[in-house]
Parts: sequence; structure tokens; C-alpha cells
Amino acid sequence: MSMLIVGTVATDDIVTPFASVAGVLGGSAVYAATAGSLYIPVQIVGVIGEDFPQKYKDFLRQKQFDLQGLEIQEGKTFHWAGKYHFDMNTRDTLATELNVLATFNPTLPVAYRETPFVFLANVDPTIQLRTLDQMKQPSLTVLDTMNYWIETQHDELTAVMRRSDLVMINDEELRQYTGEHSLLKAARQMLALGPRALIVKKGEHGAALVTKEGYYYAPGYPLEDVVDPTGAGDSFAGGFLGYIARQRKITARELHRALIHGSVIASFTVEDFSVDRLKSVTFPDVQKRYQEFASFTHFERLD
Ligand code: AMP
Repeated sequence: MSMLIVGTVATDDIVTPFASVAGVLGGSAVYAATAGSLYIPVQIVGVIGEDFPQKYKDFLRQKQFDLQGLEIQEGKTFHWAGKYHFDMNTRDTLATELNVLATFNPTLPVAYRETPFVFLANVDPTIQLRTLDQMKQPSLTVLDTMNYWIETQHDELTAVMRRSDLVMINDEELRQYTGEHSLLKAARQMLALGPRALIVKKGEHGAALVTKEGYYYAPGYPLEDVVDPTGAGDSFAGGFLGYIARQRKITARELHRALIHGSVIASFTVEDFSVDRLKSVTFPDVQKRYQEFASFTHFERLD
């Protein structure tokens, strides 16, 4: 059993009010794969340029990701730069350089086509569609996106949403996509397009699972020091789907547990730049934080 992840493999420049780094390993597929591989083997579909540093290639190999679907093309690797505000929860994108991503048209290795769990991580919706077109009936397809694609490829994004089982989106992007202020109304609007469930991410404030039948909320893990929030959403998704992929049945109870796994994984990611903290996390580390979570949120019903 494996999980397929299509997304960006990138170098990032990050500025926070407290520190900055340049040219670090990033990309939605990298964060999601590093998280997901704590649970299940991962296959990556993506593209890098000739400039992609050898040390990052070595990292992807050491992690034993299946890289048959990672193409190397002439040109530069996707590059992103972002700057966080003082709250470390909101950010401005300073640069999105698509480079080799602009012409990427993935052809999936035959071995990937029957993979049951598919994560369409944040990337051009046309690439997400092209990936789905080559898959044979995955049992669960999860979609993530970002303001950049909502602004530039709204219709293509809607087409992917219609074919996804679960959509992950942050609160600001959900409002932006639907034009609706109320998150619950906006979530219902998005569910009407076809997905069975929606996860609304609220940065440090946690995430909510909304389905036609119900609502469930998990807070963020309280951390004294957040170093870099980049990749929190992607690694949340990797942890969420990795956990789900290991369950025999997808029930509401397992979806709730998966949401906590996602929050726990994201809490490790933000403790350092890039995947510097996440890469050394072990499954027992995850379980320890998971157990702590129960005490943050548990309360008794009225008699
Ligand atoms: P997150 O903080 O979870 O939104 O993920 C940030 C990561 O996504 C960074 O490592 C970036 O390289 C990557 N990224 C930024 N913008 C985009 C975009 N428009 N499409 C795909 N990936 C992106």
C-alpha cells in the first residue's frame, strides 16, 4: 500500500520577523512526503530543474521516497519566496517563479497508476487533473490548493474539486474562492461541488472537518516558539492521509483521529525552517504529542 503525491519540489526563501533563510528545500510535495512517509511509503510526481542542489536530491533518496515520477528538466527549479507577518500566521508571497513547472506535463510511471491514496498537493490544477486522468479509480483523492491558483486558474481548480473526495483549504482561501464570509456557509457551498468532506485549516488555531452530516474541530498544538510556518498545511495533509491510508475503514472516528495526526505533524514542521525538524521526527514522537492532545480538548458533557 502506498500514497501518491503530486506537488511542487522547490527551493524557498523565507523571511520571518525573527530570522530568514534562502534557497532551502521546500515545495508542497516535499513537506507532504516527509510527513506521509512516517505512516506509509510515498510516490512523488513532480519536476525539478538542473539547478536542484545535490544535497536535496540526496535527502529525497535517503528518505526512500519512490522518485520514479520525479522528472528532471532543463531549466530552473520552482522557486518561492514568502514573508511572514508578526503574528507568524499570515504571510505575503514575495515571488512565485514557476520555471520548469510552467511546462510540466506528468506521465505517471505504470507502477503508480493503481495507487489507492492520492494527494493532489498544492500545484497547478492542470497538473493535478492530468495526474488524476492517469489514475485507475483511487479509493481516496485529497486536494489542496493555494491563493495563487484560485486567482490564476479558478475554473481548472473547480474541475479538480469536482473529482476529489476531500478538499483541504485554509480559511482565507475558502472565503476567497467562494466569495462568502461565513466559513460554514462557504464550506457547504464547496461541498455542493462534489467532495464528501472539507478540511478548513486555520493556521495556529487548528483545523475543522466539515461534511454534509457534521462538523469536528481540532485545535493547533500550542507551541512557545514557532520558527517557520511554511509547509504546515502540506505536512498536515501528509500526516492526515498517511494515517487514513493505514486504517481498514474510513469512519468518522478515524477521520477525527487523522485530523489530530495532521495537527501533530504540522506542529513539528513549524519548529524549524524547511523540513529540518520534521525530517528527524519518529512515530513515537508523533504518538506522544497525540496523547497530549487529548488532554487539551477533552471535556465532559453536561449531566
Ligand atoms: P504551505 O506553507 O503549506 O502553504 O506550503 C508552502 C510550500 O508550498 C513552500 O515550500 C513552497 O515552495 C510551496 N508553494 C508556494 N507557492 C506555491 C504554489 N503556487 N504552488 C505550489 N506550491 C507552492
